[in-house]
Amino acid sequence: MNTPMNKTLEEKDQSSLWHAFHRYHPDAVPFIAEKGEGSWFTDTNGNRFMDGVSGLWCLNLGYGQTELIEAATEQMSQLAYFPLTFGHQPAIDLAEKLDHLLGGYRTFFSNGGSDANETAFKIARQHHKQTGNPEKFKIISRYRAYHGNSLGALSATAQANRKMKYDPPAPGFLHVPPPYAYRSSFGNFERDDELTANYLEQTILWEGPETVAAFIMEPVISGGGVLYPQTSLYFDRVREICDKYNVLLILDEVVSGFGRTGKMFGHLHAEHFKPDIITLAKGLTSGYLPLGATCVKHSIYDSFKESSTDNHFRHISTYGGHPASCAVALKAIDIIERKEIVERVEELEETVLSELHQLSELSIIGDVRGIGFLYGIELVTNKESKQPASDATMKAIVAACQKKGLIIGKNSDTVPEGGNVLIVAPPLTSTEEDLRFLIGTIKEVIQAYS
Ligand code: PMP
Repeated sequence: MNTPMNKTLEEKDQSSLWHAFHRYHPDAVPFIAEKGEGSWFTDTNGNRFMDGVSGLWCLNLGYGQTELIEAATEQMSQLAYFPLTFGHQPAIDLAEKLDHLLGGYRTFFSNGGSDANETAFKIARQHHKQTGNPEKFKIISRYRAYHGNSLGALSATAQANRKMKYDPPAPGFLHVPPPYAYRSSFGNFERDDELTANYLEQTILWEGPETVAAFIMEPVISGGGVLYPQTSLYFDRVREICDKYNVLLILDEVVSGFGRTGKMFGHLHAEHFKPDIITLAKGLTSGYLPLGATCVKHSIYDSFKESSTDNHFRHISTYGGHPASCAVALKAIDIIERKEIVERVEELEETVLSELHQLSELSIIGDVRGIGFLYGIELVTNKESKQPASDATMKAIVAACQKKGLIIGKNSDTVPEGGNVLIVAPPLTSTEEDLRFLIGTIKEVIQAYS
């Protein structure tokens, strides 16, 4: 019997670490990651894997980016910590950079995506309270969206099975259907964008516009199965509706920010579209350090007069805007710009998508969709009825890819269809050879299951 002193790493892992989800398929061999380089990592047994989901869709620039590591080290030696009640250069420089990139936003920094969304909800409610609309408190989000794990962000998350063990959710959160042409909530493929947007307006009217504070959406629903509108009409209609009823439009760009969808930000797919609040995390630091950002239009910030204690934002986070995280984010943005990463994604996305589309012929494939380097492959048992593939099939496919050295994901079984979408989101720096391996492996595995 091992004493605690000579336990193996695997034994210590099994006895002491609480894993997120713990959703290993029996066929999947658990592994402990050890070292990463580019789009690849090795485990403690020396097995090599391509990370086809960029960690949790955050490691946009891949592993081993020396410049990011140096940025963190230099900043830590200079000033290891300082709260943002005062200021420090990396946070100021980063806020200014985001203001410039987004075009007119002031940033409140936090620790990650959930935190950035919580911050957005509080800003929205307080803004209305101090601009003569104290009854506006409701937050509308979309079914299948994921906005975070903390109770407010989870309440905006609209995937029933993910929440029910933590009921009741925070009051004041309600949901509307997202655009999802393949399974249109209105049974209308052609008009799905328009009808889903109209439903938002209807909901605001039913609830009473004087009670609705904000609408939050991801440009592309990622964890919920890679869902996005067919045209920018949806964005335009949503903007128009929010303006009409004085509802703040919050864009959750936690996944879609920093090149993931082939534009610097997901909302840039819709020309002239300006959200009121934009939340960022993940790719902001390329996953190298935790950081969240809530970027608020200057006109909304104007209702928070820092000189008056009545109006100031009563919100603080010890580590939000940590100097090392901000320094890494600045460097990550610099790399994206200097190495033209977004342009590269834009250039390669069609090739990857058209290769994946070749799978559409197979009986098991319901829909293949994708934008930038974010792809969803929806599996069914019957193309006509669109009966979703079983959870066992989905997990077996993910496990089979893993056996061949490729990590891919699937949406969680917290949606009614039971998690039948494979999700692929490789680092934006993946080489063409990496992408060929990714496509080849997925094709080979899926063909074997068809
Ligand atoms: N929003 C979206 C769209 C996400 O996908 C996630 C995380 N997967 C979050 C928010 C929450 O981010 P975090 O895990 O950093 O709190």
